[in-house]
Formats: sequence, C-alpha cells, structure tokens
Amino acid sequence: MGKKVFFKIKVIKSLLNYFKACHPNEGILLLRGKVKKDKIVVEEVIIPPFSEGAEDFSTFNPYHLPLDFSIIGSAHSHPNGVLKPSLTDLTHFYGFLMVIGAYPYEDEKDLALYDKEGKRIIFGIEED
Ligand SMILES: [Zn+2]
Repeated sequence: MGKKVFFKIKVIKSLLNYFKACHPNEGILLLRGKVKKDKIVVEEVIIPPFSEGAEDFSTFNPYHLPLDFSIIGSAHSHPNGVLKPSLTDLTHFYGFLMVIGAYPYEDEKDLALYDKEGKRIIFGIEED
C-alpha cells in the first residue's frame, strides 16, 4: 500500500465498544477518513443504516449507502475470535481497508487491518 495507516484513539474505542455491544452477533461499521500525501488517517466510524439485524457480513450491500467518498473501508467483528478475513470477507471488500475485530474486543490487539489482497497491514494510533 505504501502509506502508513493511522487510527484515531476514539476510532479504536468505538470499534471495540460497538463490537462488544453486538456480540454474539457480528457488527459492521464503515470507516471514514482522509488519504493524505504520506499517510491515511481513519477519523470516524459510521453505522451502516441497513445493518440492523444483519448477522453476517455477506448481507452487507454497499449500494444501499449514500455516495460518500470519505468512506475508505469497513470494519466488522468475528464473534468466533478469528482475527483473519474469510473468503467471503475478501469478495465483499468495500473501500480499500478492512478491519477485523475478534472476540473479546479488549484492546487494539483484538483488531487487525487488511488490504484488498488479504495482506495484514500494521497500523499506528494517533491522538484525537
Ligand atoms: Zn468476516
């Protein structure tokens, strides 16, 4: 990818809290942020309007979304604790970043970032 990816602390907290609240179901969020010259900063998460009751990432349909170019990726949880994307995840990739959160969603070590090829990206954390 070339650019280093950073998450605001509040984004990390929102992801973990949301995934905890959804457990044992899978939670889905979208990532908003800015692509800068030298880095990508994830600044905000938004709840997809249609995701209520969705229990599987395959029900995610990006065409229900308002056209918004600041959405740079998605995040979802794996209640089974597996910190890796499934084949379905990679075929339903939205944007260019994917975060997987694995149970028990305690801290950033329970979050992993992947690119479109399913390669893990090490991310940094920025102060809000
Ligand atoms: Zn998944």
